Amino acid sequence: MAGGKSHYEVIVVGAGVAGIYQIKRLADLGVDALVLEAAPDLGGTWYWNRYPGARFDSESYTYGYSFSKELLDEWHWKERFSSQPENLRYLNYVAEKFDLRRHMQFNCKVEAAKFDEAHDVWRLRIDVGRELTCRFVIMAVGLLSAPTLPRLAGMESFKGRSFHTFHWPHEPVELAGKKVAVIGTGATAIQIIGEIADKVGELTVFQRRPNWSAPLNNSPISDAEMADIRARYDEIFETCGRTPGGFVHEPDRRGFFEVTREERLALWDRLYDEPGFGIWLSNFREIFTDPAANAEFSAYIADRIRRRVKDPVVAEKLIPRDHGFGVQRVPLETNYFEAYNRPNVHLVDISETPIERITESGLRTSARDYEFDIIVYSTGFDAITGAYDQIDIRGIGGEKLSEKWKDGPSTFLGMLVHGFPNLLMPTGPQSGSASTNFPRGIETGVNWCSALLEHMWARGFSRADPTLAAQQRWTGYVAKMYAVMLLRNAKGWFTGYNSNVPGHEAGKVRHVVFNGGTPKYVAAINEVAMKGYEGIVFAGGERASVVRSSTTSVEAKAV
Ligand code: NAP
Repeated sequence: MAGGKSHYEVIVVGAGVAGIYQIKRLADLGVDALVLEAAPDLGGTWYWNRYPGARFDSESYTYGYSFSKELLDEWHWKERFSSQPENLRYLNYVAEKFDLRRHMQFNCKVEAAKFDEAHDVWRLRIDVGRELTCRFVIMAVGLLSAPTLPRLAGMESFKGRSFHTFHWPHEPVELAGKKVAVIGTGATAIQIIGEIADKVGELTVFQRRPNWSAPLNNSPISDAEMADIRARYDEIFETCGRTPGGFVHEPDRRGFFEVTREERLALWDRLYDEPGFGIWLSNFREIFTDPAANAEFSAYIADRIRRRVKDPVVAEKLIPRDHGFGVQRVPLETNYFEAYNRPNVHLVDISETPIERITESGLRTSARDYEFDIIVYSTGFDAITGAYDQIDIRGIGGEKLSEKWKDGPSTFLGMLVHGFPNLLMPTGPQSGSASTNFPRGIETGVNWCSALLEHMWARGFSRADPTLAAQQRWTGYVAKMYAVMLLRNAKGWFTGYNSNVPGHEAGKVRHVVFNGGTPKYVAAINEVAMKGYEGIVFAGGERASVVRSSTTSVEAKAV
């Protein structure tokens, strides 16, 4: 583990999928860099989310890093959609293989980051009192890393066990015979419910709004299949780079209304039985933009739900009415709908009978009291900007980032913010990451940020700040894309909605995600780089010998 020093050329905040790859790039360049991680160990999402059923919804072999052929050849994914323990093993394997832990410090929560204008350095306050400085700070803080609890009276009074899914205990939780409540029916809850329905005594699900969901269709990956995948890795990543979502699922390019209804049904029947996001992303493109196309497909999925859930009253409750299929990120499920056919599983519609309070022994809705041993809050995240808001980030003139982003983020390419020089966000708000297969977006962002740093080091620049005009153009472009997507009407984290975060309630769309797809995003950021980082103002030009790690003998030279 690194330690002792107080100044680094680069500090990376976060040791999740993005932070691990970012430090690998910096270590390869011999840069004096450090990773600070708030958790006791690396892994980010896959360190924290240990709830039963947690697994990829990306095909495992498209989720892993693509940067090392050796790594691709060595790692054997055991399941098409790998589970949390295996994913955490994978990230540890990567860190050990490339000896990355020595650049990481754990249990280090960055509380504040302030730009020192006189010296072009960031001053970071970590936990109580400790201060570090760095020229560049790279925020690898995750998109879904700030969990949010409901604001319910009596939550502290509950005598049983209760936790947010993000904080599911590390030691096994005894579920047999227990009365369990799950609050929420997002992607996380849908995974948990399918997994624990047959392991608990009684399971009661408190649903405010149902979510569209389709089968994951997971399966093991045999040695022979893995050998085939290894042989096709170039082709697989090439496909991911070509598709809007960064997955192996390519959209059906036929026009929705140019084919017959029978042809549409044939496609949907096939996709429903296929693994992964095909049902969402290999569909007709009009699903995302044309209300009539979306309504017809949503009706198809509603019928599928009716066929799987025996009680017609429950089935109708599980069918969303306020939004169409695919306008929010689609949860993929295993045995989710069948769970409601079990006599020990109950669905409570809290849009009809709201939760009034948590009690010592359970909770009270407007209709009755319930008793539980365990309450699971599967209530989501202050997504994308939440992890930034938790740090007191101050740029030029002491401007506070969370204030600047109060009504929604504004960025240049999702990776830089005007007035906050040398702050890089490989997966920031309005970047290409959130709307894609995360690691594919992460690699794109990390590569671009690393190239920007190399550009600066080669010229001895000490400061990079995007212009306000460039930022306004990018933010306007991102906002424009929302205007043509049906998702603009959705109450989900893609529009910055979260009923538990003041200011993020429904009613105002926050443009947090770049919705143009991978190829457009990559083209846009590459064009900026090719034009000599047009839109970014550089300063300095006289630095030397400050870049390299003390463990390497190479000296940096100002050019
Ligand atoms: P989410 O999609 O935001 O769902 C949160 C759920 O909690 C919603 O059903 C919401 O209801 C409910 N809720 C929130 N506050 C509530 C309150 N005060 N009272 C009652 N209900 C409340 O969060 P998530 O399920 O954790 O998923 C977030 C994202 O994580 C996903 O979209 C996905 O990108 C990612 N994820 C991926 C996987 C995977 O397969 N790899 C698995 C899990 C999660 P409303 O809808 O009414 O707000």
